Amino acid sequence: MLFDDHAPAVLAPSSERLLEGLNPQQRLAVVHEGSPLLVVAGAGSGKTKVLTTRIAYLLAARNVQSGEVLAITFTNKAAGEMKERVAALVGGRARAMWVSTFHSACVRILRAEAKKLGFTTTFSIYDQADAQRLMTLVCRDLDLDPKRFPARQMSNQISDLKNELVDWESARATASNVHEEQRAEVYKLYQQRLREANAMDFDDLIMTTVELLQAFPDVAEHYRRRFRHVLVDEYQDTNHAQYTLVRELTQPVGALPAAELCVVGDADQSIYAFRGADIRNIMDFEIDYPEAAVVLLEQNYRSTQRILTAANAVIAKNEGRKDKRLWTDAGDGDLIVGYVADNEHDEAAFVAGEVDALTDAGTISPHDIAVFYRTNAQSRVFEEVFIRVGLPYRVVGGVRFYERKEVRDALAYLRVLANPADTVSLRRILNTPRRGIGDRAEACIEAFASRERIPFAQALSRSAEVPGMAPRSAKAVQEFADLMDELRALVEGKMPPAEVLEAVLDRTGYVKELSESVDPQDESRVENLSELVGVAREFEERVPDGGVPEFLEQVSLVADADQIPDADGTGGVVTLMTLHAAKGLEYPVVFLTGLEDGVFPHLRALGDQAELQEERRLAYVGITRAREKLYVSRSHLRSAWGQTSYNPPSRFLEELPHHLMDWRRVESSVTSTPALARAADRVQSSSVRARSAPGLRPIPNLEVGDRVTHDAFGLGVVTATRGAGDSTQAEVDFGPGTGAKWLLLRYAPIEKL
Ligand code: ATP
Ligand code: MG
Repeated sequence: MLFDDHAPAVLAPSSERLLEGLNPQQRLAVVHEGSPLLVVAGAGSGKTKVLTTRIAYLLAARNVQSGEVLAITFTNKAAGEMKERVAALVGGRARAMWVSTFHSACVRILRAEAKKLGFTTTFSIYDQADAQRLMTLVCRDLDLDPKRFPARQMSNQISDLKNELVDWESARATASNVHEEQRAEVYKLYQQRLREANAMDFDDLIMTTVELLQAFPDVAEHYRRRFRHVLVDEYQDTNHAQYTLVRELTQPVGALPAAELCVVGDADQSIYAFRGADIRNIMDFEIDYPEAAVVLLEQNYRSTQRILTAANAVIAKNEGRKDKRLWTDAGDGDLIVGYVADNEHDEAAFVAGEVDALTDAGTISPHDIAVFYRTNAQSRVFEEVFIRVGLPYRVVGGVRFYERKEVRDALAYLRVLANPADTVSLRRILNTPRRGIGDRAEACIEAFASRERIPFAQALSRSAEVPGMAPRSAKAVQEFADLMDELRALVEGKMPPAEVLEAVLDRTGYVKELSESVDPQDESRVENLSELVGVAREFEERVPDGGVPEFLEQVSLVADADQIPDADGTGGVVTLMTLHAAKGLEYPVVFLTGLEDGVFPHLRALGDQAELQEERRLAYVGITRAREKLYVSRSHLRSAWGQTSYNPPSRFLEELPHHLMDWRRVESSVTSTPALARAADRVQSSSVRARSAPGLRPIPNLEVGDRVTHDAFGLGVVTATRGAGDSTQAEVDFGPGTGAKWLLLRYAPIEKL
């Protein structure tokens, strides 16, 4: 983020003014010097505020240069905001400061040091979808049975290994069974392909930076001298690789003491264990850094007492946690509004109606309001209803802009232009739009490339020599290679990204093909592509000398939560998002929807204590986003994936103390009292399911020792069973990586072998 040089200079405030309004513990954390500092506290207690104020204080009172600060936030958006807040406090000096996500910080380091690692500075960054595409190619090349080794599962397992900083050599050295040996082979070839493509996946960004710092002492020394202050927000969600990165950066260099480290977090808000986040990083901080100072914050500045009491009551049900005494002087506030809907449309209509009533009153505007749900798919119904009643909204996440086919295609062109070695992107666009280069031609080129030991891209320009290829295909390939050379000349001539993009869309015939199509979807594809050109224009304004590689870098690093709309003060729109994307944010009004066992908590968590505890932390995160008004709702009947089911109330709903609740509707058309609802629902659920959904497949009859395949986890062996009828569960061991899981057989996507 850049700041305008012509903006009026903000005078460095007296350091005392920075501390005004902070409570004594917050002050302590802001002014602490020397030893590592851990700030642990519940939601809304000002952890992020402490971090921001501390940075400002370092610059204003402790003579720290902004270039000496490295601050890590959870999203690029949070980074931008933090930088703005610091700039508001200390002015344009904030410019040279590194405030970014782990991934962005690592990319900056890696770009600068790429040559040492055998990459060029324009290496590609593969997101999850690219990574999986490459994994599919790798598994195919190794002739692996896709049933036993689904590419997605392989991707996940290798991602887990990387988060644990296990490279393929160690994975192979420690493999103790055939599966692990096979996996190590996959890992090896996958890394080799990435390297050939001059590319890194998301997990590589962190792991490779750690390796860089460990392998090149001079590089490590450079960054240790540079970053004298390292600050990390949301520390509870760091994984092992990120943890090690922080450790590497904060080591002493010769006589120079270690950089000052300040981390803030809340173990009760750890919600990324599925991505390798390790709650122990925060719990063990005092063990890892014995000289550490610890500051506890106990006053919540965000929510009313009732909202806070509700949050505390829910999280108190988790085991093995440190109890926190969080209080607020914001007053009791309103009761929590509860609503039981007949179905999900009714639930969305209730939310829309409340939003309408709240905004009509004039004190609340749509941008003060957020609607949360457990999974992306749940947004659809809200969108339908909101569109119908004319309520402006914005969805964060979902089928994201950058995941759309046309957008990915266009970006693949840019990537190949910036990085010709990027074979995954190259193969993606080889015949997109269709230009007569079929699978057979592609296979011939691949065979030729590997026989000649030349890169795929190079083989394209020698298509005339490729054996077995029809002359017509050879000609098409040659034309494609020429076209790419032409376009590449534009990039090398430093043409701005938006113009390059337009040239690509035009000269490849991509837009022409879409415009001529009669498929109505293709029309919105054209719109999406113009939006992408718009994104590139915006980028050019922000980064005037940024070229295609810089543009690509920005695009590859936008995370889910980065699409959160800014409050524009003019009314704005209601925000819809998953609970995961809501972390760290706050809204005056929050709707927590879909509170049903099997939805939230997620079905997967029902038979698994550890996962259930993580779901409960997610509930805690959700509740504590609310400042003034909290709504909780559930739907009696819900359709998902073409099936309709009756879901019992979420256990989290029952954990909310009754005296805090104002139930607007306690009964669906089938039950009469909330106390009875759950039991009635249970009875109802099994009988109705069996009656009204004959399409449901029968529950597989499993015994210990049976082998099954699961759509996501792959091959496994049944190790135990329990329950009967609809609630029959089986424990299945999916081997290393995934481990054993309890599955509810009514729903689990498994097949007995
Ligand atoms: P989370 O755990 O959700 O990330 P947090 O601990 O980071 O929360 P902040 O977002 O920093 O909390 O603060 C919550 C709200 O309280 C913000 O609106 C912040 O401006 C406000 N706040 C924090 N400290 C104070 C204070 N001393 N006086 C007034 N307001 C404060
Ligand atoms: Mg925070």
